[in-house]
Amino acid sequence: MTKQTQESDSILRGIHVLDGGMATELEYLGVKIDGPLWSAHVLEDAPEKVVAVHRAYIEAGATCILTSSYQVSRMGYAEFGLDRERADAALLRSVELAHSACAEFPDRRIVVASSLGPYRAALHNGAEYHGNYGCRFADLVEFHRERIRVLAERSPNQLVPDLLAFETLPSLGEALAVGEALAPWPELAAWFSFTCRDERHVAHGELLSECAAAVARFPQAVAIGVNCTRPALMPELIAELRRASDKPVVVYPNSGEEWDAVNRCWRGAGDPTSFGAMATAWFAAGAQIVGGCCRARPAHIVQVAEEADRLR
Ligand SMILES: [Zn+2]
Repeated sequence: MTKQTQESDSILRGIHVLDGGMATELEYLGVKIDGPLWSAHVLEDAPEKVVAVHRAYIEAGATCILTSSYQVSRMGYAEFGLDRERADAALLRSVELAHSACAEFPDRRIVVASSLGPYRAALHNGAEYHGNYGCRFADLVEFHRERIRVLAERSPNQLVPDLLAFETLPSLGEALAVGEALAPWPELAAWFSFTCRDERHVAHGELLSECAAAVARFPQAVAIGVNCTRPALMPELIAELRRASDKPVVVYPNSGEEWDAVNRCWRGAGDPTSFGAMATAWFAAGAQIVGGCCRARPAHIVQVAEEADRLR
């Protein structure tokens, strides 16, 4: 194991509180995020809003924050006529903004994780939830490697993330492509987080346990988990992860509300108090890093942080 990976392991040792949804919170701050490349526009035109979201989550108790780069990629930018330099700059900018929010809390050690969404996440067509891309493995590898290279081969004065968060991974195939993409940089630290369709299977249909066992073999893997999934599924999924590997378990499900595609609105319970009660069970089941994904807000993270404080 390399020095950097050891350091990152120690960064994630113990209990961590992750943040909640970036898009959700930007929306509450009045940022329009319905365009296909909303994060590009926010990073370039309203960086103070991104910092404000990070700040809100750190104040809520987050000890690990995800950058606002989920859908930033050269391919996604190219689809809308934006060049690769602009995509690369946006990726680096998101890291800077996260660090500048952390700098407001000099007494706290906050982990910065670069959010890296799956292939096609930029296109807003929902493909990441099932992972039927119809593209070659080599294309998937290259898609991920382009972003990794930007973050890994930085100039000396450039701020770097503590780890790379590959999230909302829909399939074993894409997770393996990420591992292949990471191969030139064994010293990096990364977590692999899958989106799941039921208590045992990732969105594309493979067993979560199979996916976890596969990614645990990558030298960069410092945690394995589940995000962007119904919170009710978490206890079973955490048990699957624990059976599959001894890596720290990271979970950040959605708030609990469900998207009603017919009426185009969110329905169901997703209140912070019940989220906090569920988080208690996730910690008890063996999750070490807990936060929220879609529709989870700072009020949800406050509840998670209170539980984490009790456990510490
Ligand atoms: Zn989500």
